[in-house]
Amino acid sequence: MLEVENLEVFYGPVQALFGVSLRVEAGEIVTLVGRNGAGKSTLLRAISGLVPACGSVRFAGEELLGRAPEQIVRRGVAHVPEGRRIFPGLTVVENLQVAAYAVGAPEARVREDVGRVLDLFPGLRARSRSYGWSLSGGEQQMLAIGRGLMARPRLLLLDEPSLGLAPLLVDELFRTIGEIRSAGTAVLLAEQNAAMALALADRAYVLENGRITREGPGSELLQDEGVIAAYLGGG
Ligand code: ATP
Repeated sequence: MLEVENLEVFYGPVQALFGVSLRVEAGEIVTLVGRNGAGKSTLLRAISGLVPACGSVRFAGEELLGRAPEQIVRRGVAHVPEGRRIFPGLTVVENLQVAAYAVGAPEARVREDVGRVLDLFPGLRARSRSYGWSLSGGEQQMLAIGRGLMARPRLLLLDEPSLGLAPLLVDELFRTIGEIRSAGTAVLLAEQNAAMALALADRAYVLENGRITREGPGSELLQDEGVIAAYLGGG
């Protein structure tokens, strides 16, 4: 469904990605593991049109490179950036509605999708009339993901969703990502929380200094000695 080939990204004279290739099939969870600064966010941003890139990003057979971010969302790729970026002055429901209207969704569909997102995140349903600013970090993360789902994506790009969450919330978050996949949305997940992200993944890629250095089924990379030493606190 998503095929990235030979992707290169430069920030001025600094090259951040070097010939990165990866794919995500329909219904898969694919994890991208890498240290701070390895290029995970850059890769997700290039896929969703937020930074210029060379190479090829094909989604459902169509080239995305060169398209504007809003065109890419409408084609079914939603991006949940690191750091949550919800609207603090809007309520939970309003945050969800704005995300849907931004992709031109009609009112009946918006109502239905708000219900669907609140079913997926029962904790958010309890806070549906609360303002963004009053939410806990975990609630904000759920809302950020909910906003991404309002575009009815076929592929959801999640950038470090577990960052700063308490362990119990991280468990809940990863369970919910599994439910999102079961409902038919593929997920490309950038994570430093490698153990849980690899356990959940159908397939995974390791990104080091802007290059893919390993790939395979999540369960296989969990057993890989290099991965254990570098990302799972072993050695
Ligand atoms: P993090 O989890 O910290 O976001 P990451 O793996 O997502 O790490 P990127 O943010 O993609 O890494 O950064 C990749 C490289 O590109 C890093 O060396 C970073 O310093 C550089 N970089 C990122 N954004 C910019 C920018 N706007 N201008 C210049 N260099 C940048």
